[in-house]
Amino acid sequence: MNLAKRRFEIDSSGIRKVFDLAAKLKNPCNLSIGLPDYDVPDPVKEAAIEAIRAGQNRYTLTAGVPRLRETVTARYRERGHDVEDAIVVAGTSGGLFLCFLALLNPGDGLMFTDPYFVMYKHLCKFIGAVPAYIDTYPDFRLRREALERAWTPNCKAIVINSPNNPTGIVYSDDELKMAAEFAEEKGLVVITDEIYEDFVFDGPFRSPADFTDPARTVIISGLSKNAAMTGWRIGWVAGPKVLVQALSDIQQYSFVCAPSFAQAASFSALEFDMADIRERFTKRRDFVHAGLVDAGYSVEKPGGAFYVLPAAPGGNGDEFVRRAIEKNLLVVPGSVFSERATHFRISFAAGMEQLERGVGILRELNAGGG
Ligand code: PMP
Repeated sequence: MNLAKRRFEIDSSGIRKVFDLAAKLKNPCNLSIGLPDYDVPDPVKEAAIEAIRAGQNRYTLTAGVPRLRETVTARYRERGHDVEDAIVVAGTSGGLFLCFLALLNPGDGLMFTDPYFVMYKHLCKFIGAVPAYIDTYPDFRLRREALERAWTPNCKAIVINSPNNPTGIVYSDDELKMAAEFAEEKGLVVITDEIYEDFVFDGPFRSPADFTDPARTVIISGLSKNAAMTGWRIGWVAGPKVLVQALSDIQQYSFVCAPSFAQAASFSALEFDMADIRERFTKRRDFVHAGLVDAGYSVEKPGGAFYVLPAAPGGNGDEFVRRAIEKNLLVVPGSVFSERATHFRISFAAGMEQLERGVGILRELNAGGG
């Protein structure tokens, strides 16, 4: 079949190779997974079942159930963000897709940090926009010089993802302020991907929107990570009315609406208390980080999300992951998330037993190193 050119802008070979290798493993220690290791909370499940039984199975309004949109809008206003409106979308991914379509013309530049969440790069290419990579190596912090180096006159928007996938880095107020000032100077739209907002370990969550002009700020988040609803596809985008209207128009001719029963259960998910889970993940973070440091890895301590991105001993992340897989440990090569292939990603969204096993294998893989 003769497929459209745009299809070939998307390359999933890197991650597919890892999954292909993984499929051959028996009882692997799997630290590659980017989703929580707990299930949807019971009250949220009950709310969804109740909604299905009550007949909430039809299309909702395109932009989502009005009360849910109002709840999301109110949530941001309580945080001091002057958002005009919000739309419910089919997952954060759906929100990113709609935003990129609504904001970027072919040839427009989109700035985002390298390492990056893979979707930013591939969606950009898919729609003919040009990635402008902000180099954050070696410590994954945001620096003015790196923003200046990445920027081109074609850049229209910047994505900030804090806590970050795949580095786990949480940007400081100073970094967020600096990036906001840069965006203001260059007239960039700031897209803030806040999907890991509930996984911040060393202080409260801070949004770039605390520092940006609300007229040029787009906040995206959802319930996949905190409420573990990855398969239910609930996300939202909050920002200026003109943008929300544009997203709604595009959603009308694409996703149509987010799943009805999942929207109904979202109220319960939004009330879910994350304190215990955050504490558990903080302990896991501390365990994995200390284990890596002790085993001689060069690693930045993640302040959030559930990832850590150490440098691969020997400098080649792809090669290192091949060796890890030989020892039955599944981690992801950094080349999947970066223009460089020097690191590898570990997810600590796994039980302590798995993490102990994983750290043990990592220790063997760097025996004599450091
Ligand atoms: N943004 C980031 C940074 C992510 O890591 C993910 C999930 N891996 C998403 C967005 C998409 O999440 P979802 O579409 O399930 O809401």
